[in-house]
Amino acid sequence: MLDYSEVCTTFSWEAVRASLQGLPNNSGLNIAHEAIERHANGPLRDRVAIRWLGKKDTSLELTYGELQAGSNRFANLLKQLGVNKGERVFWLAGRIPILYSVFFGILKTGAVFCPLFSAFGPEPIAQRLERGNAKILVTTERQYRKKIEPLLSRLPELESILLVDREEKLNEWVLSLPQLMADSSSEFTIPPTDPEDKAILHFTSGTTGMPKGAVHVHNAVLTHWITGRYVLDLHPEDVFWCTADPGWVTGTSYGIITPLLHGVTSIVDEAEFEIQRWYQILEQHKVTVWYTAPTAIRMLMRASADVREKYDLSALRLIHSVGEPLNPEAIFWGQRVLGLPIHDNWWQTETGGIMVANYAALEIRPGSMGKPLPGIEAAIANRLPDGTLQLEGDEVEGELVLRRGWPSMFRAYLHEQERYNTCFVGDWYLTGDLARRDTDGYFWFIGRADDIIKTAGHMVGPFEVESSLMEHAAVAEAGVIGKPEPTIGELVKAFVVLKPGFSASDELKQELIGFGRIRLGSAVAPKEIEFTDNLPKTRSGKIMRRLLKARELGLPIGDTSTLEGSAS
Ligand code: ATP
Ligand code: MG
Repeated sequence: MLDYSEVCTTFSWEAVRASLQGLPNNSGLNIAHEAIERHANGPLRDRVAIRWLGKKDTSLELTYGELQAGSNRFANLLKQLGVNKGERVFWLAGRIPILYSVFFGILKTGAVFCPLFSAFGPEPIAQRLERGNAKILVTTERQYRKKIEPLLSRLPELESILLVDREEKLNEWVLSLPQLMADSSSEFTIPPTDPEDKAILHFTSGTTGMPKGAVHVHNAVLTHWITGRYVLDLHPEDVFWCTADPGWVTGTSYGIITPLLHGVTSIVDEAEFEIQRWYQILEQHKVTVWYTAPTAIRMLMRASADVREKYDLSALRLIHSVGEPLNPEAIFWGQRVLGLPIHDNWWQTETGGIMVANYAALEIRPGSMGKPLPGIEAAIANRLPDGTLQLEGDEVEGELVLRRGWPSMFRAYLHEQERYNTCFVGDWYLTGDLARRDTDGYFWFIGRADDIIKTAGHMVGPFEVESSLMEHAAVAEAGVIGKPEPTIGELVKAFVVLKPGFSASDELKQELIGFGRIRLGSAVAPKEIEFTDNLPKTRSGKIMRRLLKARELGLPIGDTSTLEGSAS
């Protein structure tokens, strides 16, 4: 995209649909066809689709042709197991090569893929399998023995378990996936697929409460395709690396589907974050487009500059970040240390794909999440007492809303119709995030509606305070909450993680309070600072402010199934 405004004026979703192939004989639209079949039946057949890097320095390459055969085998075996359209197949096995055949095999049959983080403990797994009416579970023997076997009595709808790492079946319904794959045919024809057929069930991150099950359909592929082009700027010769786990929506929309739609080589790293390893991957595999998250960037920022200097990152041409607001400090750091700015973009599990972004073709405004994707109408709105929405003009704070009907919009919260309905007022979807739009059309994130602090008549977004604190040389990361206080309503309190080489002291506390006052003014600056070794985060890397608050106030901590480091 060279000219954002021009693209916005000429954009149509019909044209996007026309640039996809569709199933043969006008029989519909299927994500697997667009991501795999189209390339496997054409000149990209032998191109590496996935370059998988194992934890133990092993690696494996899968071409588009191999993924076609693998996903066909999996589709055939699901048919043999009696899986019907719309039924749910769960994945609990991390980032391993067979995932990609399983994922596309499920979509080919019309069944629904539902991923879980493999570090989930038994209870969150059981809850999601129950709520999701899991019919088939694909997992490892270790996960099965440790977490699933003890729960079987709670899962009467679960008909078969497929173990990815066993050569023989355990019994009549705990089966060996390699054996079944070997016995199944590599020929499969995708049946007619309505674009509205369900494809993926994704649980939200649980940052604000009990995770919701967002249901997505095949038509979402239009958003995946066009964001791959306009936001990630993917071209066939690119090497793309999305660092997200498929347990989180970024890991499926952009870790699996989007790069393959564009016929690029996608890097998948099985291991968890590690500074040297990540720089090494960027260098060795000549990653050109990198999609990561603020939490990872902040971890890289904490390391000393000489770590970075050992690596040649000259292949890298575009960096994007999602999941949390990206502190301006991180963008400047990117420019200084990586040689490229970091482009922030905003979306949610519910939106299925990127909705607001900083584009390569537009000036980046540090601290802003950018402008709406062409084809997406975003606005700022406030609710009137009669329940209707008032759309606001520029520079007014309010809730970020999107005009309903974009292709990757979630079609349901599983088994929660009421809750789904309350997300919409008239034509608008309410995101639950507060923001404002500047006079040039850039959107600025203020905070989640649930996290907003009301202090002495002001509304304070934690992000603003956290970003300011991060400009101080000693601060690696900060989480900010409102603590009830009788005279001013809530008091701004910051939990601060220090960079290596700095130690907690009363002097530093006072210094940070003073630093905040100068930058933010006394109404908004934190009045209390507490040093901590780390902040509670979801497994997708988001600061859980509700947990900081509950702990501070001694309140029940609520659902912690997605808390990083909780029982596994
Ligand atoms: P839950 O809905 O279960 O509380 P969650 O909202 O964190 O969890 P996700 O759908 O993974 O679940 O995250 C979407 C949210 O993440 C957004 O609503 C927003 O609050 C935040 N977010 C994502 N990207 C950005 C961004 N670039 N800037 C600011 N916030 C972001
Ligand atoms: Mg949410």
